[in-house]
Amino acid sequence: MNLKKTATLVCISALSVLATVRVTTTTTDLKCLVEKIGGDKVEVTSLVRPLQDAHYLDATPGMVMRISRSDLFVENGFELEMGWVPEVLRETRNRDVRRGGKGHVNASRGIQAIQVPDSPSRDQGDVHPSGNPHYTLEPVVTQQAARNIADGLIRVDEANAAFYLANLDAYIEESNALVEKWQEKFSELEGTGVIKFHSHFDYMLKKLGLRIVDAIEPLPGLAPSAGHVARLISRYDENSVGVVIMEPWHDERVARQVAEGIGVELLVLDPAVGASEDTPCILALFEHNAHRVYRALGGE
Ligand SMILES: [Zn+2]
Repeated sequence: MNLKKTATLVCISALSVLATVRVTTTTTDLKCLVEKIGGDKVEVTSLVRPLQDAHYLDATPGMVMRISRSDLFVENGFELEMGWVPEVLRETRNRDVRRGGKGHVNASRGIQAIQVPDSPSRDQGDVHPSGNPHYTLEPVVTQQAARNIADGLIRVDEANAAFYLANLDAYIEESNALVEKWQEKFSELEGTGVIKFHSHFDYMLKKLGLRIVDAIEPLPGLAPSAGHVARLISRYDENSVGVVIMEPWHDERVARQVAEGIGVELLVLDPAVGASEDTPCILALFEHNAHRVYRALGGE
């Protein structure tokens, strides 16, 4: 046996196992998910900060540099990042992380989007032309994103496939148990009406059996007129609506006007992982928001 050759092979194989997979994600929700599946094998950076609205970012040279140095790039999909990710991907010289490359993950692949419009109103400013992209607020539908991420990690780091798959199984089990727990708690509140600002929490609200009766935005991404706000206040009362919810980056003054006009509480929920110290990862994000809605509706 050629000892020198054997030693070299051992050395290469040790390196391939020990190297950390460098991952860039668009959102902090996806960052947390990659960390759950990748554990200590990955080093993850998110391009969007927790309190930034991922619909409205501009591509920057820093983003291009970041994904150019990555082994894997994970985007949310359903056109959440349509205003900036295509440009970042065009600019990078790293072909692997471009769409279709082995280092690219569209986390939404295989997920059935809710609220797919019959005729997208892009020209009117609709930012959900492919349906609602905010699935990561609901951990069970996010299991498919976790699978897509595990597949991506295995493509670039096959040596640790068993590790990634075991973590995926653990996430599926943990998320099923958490969501079932909250569905049980919310069963007494089934069908309670909610008014939302943007459609950010719809996957979560639907999973919990709540009824989204209306939105402060007339279309996703479109600011409400005074007439629209007045119509909401005259159409609903505290019998038809239990709570008004919003994301921190929208106009709280308008949402407060609607909530006070109807006579219910306004909740500013955590929109993403890391938005507060209560939401360090994706399951905590769901639990924190579900708990706040539950309490606002009279649960303990
Ligand atoms: Zn949106």
